[in-house]
Amino acid sequence: MRFPLALTLKIARHIIAHKLRRTPRFALVLQLEPLHTCNLACTGCGRIREYSTSLRDVMSLADCLAAAADCGAPMVSVCGGEPLIYPQIAELVDGLLQQGRIVYICTNALLMRRKLRDYLAAIYQPASESLLGQLIQESLLTETEAAEVRQGSKNGGPVIRPTPWLYWNVHVDGLERTHDLIVEREGVFRECVAAVTMAKRLGFQVATNTTVYKETDVDEIEQMFEFFSALDVDGHTISPGYDYDAAKVAMIKKGRQRPEDFFLTRAATVEKFSRLEEWGRRFTIFGTVVYQEFLAGKRDLTCTAWAIPTRNIKGWKAPCYLITDGHYASYPEMLDRVNWGQYGVVKGQVRDSRCEHCMVHCGYDPSGALGVDYRPGDTWKNIKYNFGAKPAPSERGKTVKAFNGVSIGRGHDSGAGGSKPVPETCPKDGDTVAEKKTA
Ligand code: SF4
Ligand code: SF4
Repeated sequence: MRFPLALTLKIARHIIAHKLRRTPRFALVLQLEPLHTCNLACTGCGRIREYSTSLRDVMSLADCLAAAADCGAPMVSVCGGEPLIYPQIAELVDGLLQQGRIVYICTNALLMRRKLRDYLAAIYQPASESLLGQLIQESLLTETEAAEVRQGSKNGGPVIRPTPWLYWNVHVDGLERTHDLIVEREGVFRECVAAVTMAKRLGFQVATNTTVYKETDVDEIEQMFEFFSALDVDGHTISPGYDYDAAKVAMIKKGRQRPEDFFLTRAATVEKFSRLEEWGRRFTIFGTVVYQEFLAGKRDLTCTAWAIPTRNIKGWKAPCYLITDGHYASYPEMLDRVNWGQYGVVKGQVRDSRCEHCMVHCGYDPSGALGVDYRPGDTWKNIKYNFGAKPAPSERGKTVKAFNGVSIGRGHDSGAGGSKPVPETCPKDGDTVAEKKTA
């Protein structure tokens, strides 16, 4: 199966229960942003710009857990900012799992190996030595780090542990050179690969999370899928990059790129995603077949942004991850007060000019799962895709030259402020963009 049976059944039960109750709108995935601080400043990121005045604020653990209960979504994507900077990230993941949620930690991976070492320390016993030896041999762990692991957990607090209900969701937008350009720092891709490899060695489920931009080379994305498939990652999410207001304004201010050269129009999205269905057969692409058909230009869908709500330090962000027309105190209040009919593109009619070119997963992937714009055979197609055999790891991926940037001395100059190599040791927790700027 492309997605584990227990997780599929959990989501299916949630949808069926709401359909039987005739609930008009309900949440499938909560995008939880406990903070907006990040240790990167990627080119297309609107988050760290839109919330630049509140980068030091964090949601309390209690608020985070209450938000998940408030909307009742079976899946929670913990994002941000960089969620691994959140001081109580392990407690948060633990609390969400205890609520019975499927949890995705969406991370740029810079702090991921540190969290994996915390786990290793918590479970350390003499029998762990062969694993430590293997990790050292693969340069995933240094001798100094191994010595720290042997001392065991420092405070005995919760750590992030492998479970079928948890995925690391690592942000990669291409192979080394491209990814490091997009995140504006050399060495980040190399760290992503190390973190993914180490997480797999420790028994975690790992997915990759890719945004496609106008300048993205689809051949490279295919090679990237092959490369990570060969590392035995468990799935891939992919979505078109869209010029939401904050990202666009930030780009114009920086003056290095024009938004129209970077983000995708609808026509350009369809062109970029023309091979998506073929990729779905070769790789474990997460998401419904119906959404894949939409991205490939084979059908229309109605936006269901209410099904993937975003909760952050300001409240429930409406109407969606991209546009901010307000923040609400609770999910039911947001459902009730937002005029959902004024957004999206329906039957070719643009209801809000800001939605004109949007085809992002947080607006349209749930539409495929919820049977909005249902066509006979859709349910069967989705079931067949999900229950179909999981594609085998790619053999060709072992030959992909993924390290085609700074690793082979071919660095880049991404402009002022970019091009800083990743330090050998990860930045310390709380080492924020704001702090770097004032340092
Ligand atoms: S990793 Fe990049 S895209 Fe993600 S929050 Fe940080 S700056 Fe934004
Ligand atoms: S189409 Fe939906 S998800 Fe996209 S910008 Fe509009 S409201 Fe947001």
